[in-house]
Amino acid sequence: MEKCSQCGVCCRLFIINLNEKEYSSKEYKTLFEKFDHISDFKEAEEIGANLLSQNKDGSCIYLKDKRCSIHDRRPEVCRKFFCSSKEKKYKDMIRKIKDENSKKIW
Ligand code: SF4
Repeated sequence: MEKCSQCGVCCRLFIINLNEKEYSSKEYKTLFEKFDHISDFKEAEEIGANLLSQNKDGSCIYLKDKRCSIHDRRPEVCRKFFCSSKEKKYKDMIRKIKDENSKKIW
């Protein structure tokens, strides 16, 4: 498997969904954290309350100097995704990363 180049592009492009355990832990900054925490996870998912907070430019709030500042406790989706993956479910995400890299704006 190819090694991560730590370009940080995937952390700038995609919105991160917390799983139930992560959301319930209240350890992560979420997009709507100013609102009350929702105890019903399905309801939280429906309204997007389990989405990680983003900076104004759309990048993940935890991306600092192209590195994940919470690498040891990064969400499950971040652990599973790898841009050299051959899994079909990641095809569109990988294409977007390649498109962004081809612009060389990072
Ligand atoms: S939590 Fe870390 S790995 Fe996940 S998108 Fe944010 S910066 Fe990237």
